[in-house]
Amino acid sequence: MAQGTLYIVSAPSGAGKSSLIQALLKTQPLYDTQVSVSHTTRASRPGENHGEHYFFVSKDEFRRMIEQDEFLEHAEVFGNYYGTSRAAIEQVLSTGVDVFLDIDWQGAQQIRAKMPQSRSIFILPPSKEELGRRLRGRGQDADEVIAKRMAQAVAEMTHYAEYDYLIVNDDFDLALSDLKTIIRAERLRLGRQMLRHDALISKLLAD
Ligand code: GDP
Ligand code: ADP
Ligand code: 5GP
Repeated sequence: MAQGTLYIVSAPSGAGKSSLIQALLKTQPLYDTQVSVSHTTRASRPGENHGEHYFFVSKDEFRRMIEQDEFLEHAEVFGNYYGTSRAAIEQVLSTGVDVFLDIDWQGAQQIRAKMPQSRSIFILPPSKEELGRRLRGRGQDADEVIAKRMAQAVAEMTHYAEYDYLIVNDDFDLALSDLKTIIRAERLRLGRQMLRHDALISKLLAD
């Protein structure tokens, strides 16, 4: 059984990474692709469910998890803590499922160092004005939270060149198609194909 591929997706807040990942998952069966559910200390937004969008935990619980080495990576983003739990990811990857991490550049650097076989994708908005419109249009964050996220956007975007792939999310369907193409190409790499078609290749090469 081939290990699943770990995909890191980063973007400035509002660029559309959650929407793209969710749309991608709808086109893929669970045994192919899953998204990792992070732990966070931020408050839940209306419509967000514990265990589905995030595991919402207290700062004390988050600190305990850091001390017990339960995170593959963790970072402070916009004044809150976010982290990816080690156990969940490793178990799922070992069953051959591809896993998506929606994490910031700090987390991406930690994952790359620990798992060099991971692949990373950066998503850019078509303009700063459009990024602001999307953040406001989402209508889920307070004005001062939006201002903080806009101010951080350029800092996040300066890390784009550390990633393997770059997608500009202007037309949503086109960006989604780009994302699907990346995954398809990764699944066609020789190592994955050799394992998937092991029996066929043996038969074709037999005398
Ligand atoms: P949104 O994705 O911008 O709508 O906002 P979120 O509150 O969901 O995420 C805030 C920031 O935290 C983003 O930059 C995420 O990529 C990052 N983030 C989310 N989960 C994790 C995680 O598990 N680890 C790390 N390092 N960053 C995360
Ligand atoms: P992120 O997870 O990067 O913070 P979201 O996926 O929450 O971003 O998207 C921010 C807002 O922008 C959402 O309201 C979403 O519906 C909208 N959006 C995402 N992609 C596009 C696009 N290509 N065109 C217009 N609106 C978009
Ligand atoms: P939001 O609060 O809008 O859900 O997320 C804000 C930012 O936190 C996003 O850029 C998101 O990618 C990042 N983020 C979410 N979960 C994690 C995580 O587990 N680790 C890291 N490093 N960043 C995360």
